[in-house]
Amino acid sequence: MATTSLDLAKVRNIGIMAHIDAGKTTTTERILYYTGVSYKIGEVHDGAATMDWMAQEQERGITITSAATTCHWPLNDTDHTINIIDTPGHVDFTVEVERSLRVLDGAVTVFDGVAGVEPQSETVWRQADRYGVPRICFVNKLDRTGAEFHRCVDMIEDRLGAQPLVMQLPIGTEMDFKGVVDLVTMKAFVWSADTKLGEAYDIVDIPDTHTEAAAEYRGKLLEAVAENDEEMMELYLEGQEPTEDQLYAAIRRVTIASGRTTEGTTVTPVFCGTAFKNKGVQPLLDAVVRYLPSPLDVDAIEGHAVNDPEQVIVRKPSEDEPMSALAFKIAADPHLGKLTFIRVYSGRLTAGTQVQNSVKGKKERIGKIYRMHANKREEIESVGAGDIVAVMGLKQTTTGETLCDPSNPVILESMDFPAPVIQVA
Ligand code: GDP
Repeated sequence: MATTSLDLAKVRNIGIMAHIDAGKTTTTERILYYTGVSYKIGEVHDGAATMDWMAQEQERGITITSAATTCHWPLNDTDHTINIIDTPGHVDFTVEVERSLRVLDGAVTVFDGVAGVEPQSETVWRQADRYGVPRICFVNKLDRTGAEFHRCVDMIEDRLGAQPLVMQLPIGTEMDFKGVVDLVTMKAFVWSADTKLGEAYDIVDIPDTHTEAAAEYRGKLLEAVAENDEEMMELYLEGQEPTEDQLYAAIRRVTIASGRTTEGTTVTPVFCGTAFKNKGVQPLLDAVVRYLPSPLDVDAIEGHAVNDPEQVIVRKPSEDEPMSALAFKIAADPHLGKLTFIRVYSGRLTAGTQVQNSVKGKKERIGKIYRMHANKREEIESVGAGDIVAVMGLKQTTTGETLCDPSNPVILESMDFPAPVIQVA
């Protein structure tokens, strides 16, 4: 059985948020497919197995059955673990949405390239604002008649009050949409006309038709990043071109810093494609790793003492700290029974040990611990700070409650539900 001590810098806990029908499910499926193809974890983790699983799930009309699904994506030959936390899109589940937002570090917001920013896009955006969740955007459905990438970018600015960073320019429109110009590498990513799932894209020179627009938008991108980042501003004022790595790092800093603060303007990198036609999702995965925070980008989480809500207790995302974890979802698994999804914030949690539910004041025994993948579950011995897993055996714990080291009790979330969200229609 695997004892996983993850390199936290290579972990991304993300949510995918969207107005209904924008393509959240399709985008998530494609993410699981591409990550399944690229990553082989022993036994049955190949693309075909993932697709079989998806076909079965689709027949039953469900896609993501797990509250948190773990997948892997290599960037620059380095493996990254991405935990996708299911954020219910429906406005009726506001408390549940907010609870899932609490445990993730970053999010991908999916927009319909025809409809642009829709009422629920606004709702989830405001919720992410309130929880200080850094975001990247994916303008989907660019293959559809009437799709307009730049109109959607304008709506992100006007309706959501964000500062969009245009990271790509589409090549071709509607049925002829075939690829994107990448404004960091200044290369064109082109998918073949009849892209099948799993097919990679070619990286080629920017077509002549797009060189002028690419130069213009690259200029705008550098200016916008410089406005928000001192290091880039210095280069900009000296008239120096940043290297790719400098630009990646600056966009990451800006995205995280502006997303974290609950005031001020959220700066958000914007990508595009069509999940359904399999174009644009691999670069989006690169962007998740490049620009969204790791658990280490959160300095510490604040909780409070069990008997004194005023006494602040700080826990760092480190295995040297006492264990603390938050239960964010209870699910009934058809094979395993009751599963409690938790995020571990500090320390290490080991199967078979006793922990304290500090909210209820009760001891609980941790049964088996599972990492849930798209097409299988993986039993692990223990789980460390920053990670998200499902545990069996918890009898009394409900969502929002803290599990902790019995000799170092802490409560991570107050029992008060967040204030109701005002729907901005
Ligand atoms: P969700 O409600 O946000 O999860 O949206 P879905 O992923 O279920 O997609 C809603 C509908 O839009 C489905 O019929 C999808 O097949 C379709 N769809 C999703 N992505 C695209 C796309 O890129 N292009 C087109 N034309 N249709 C898409």
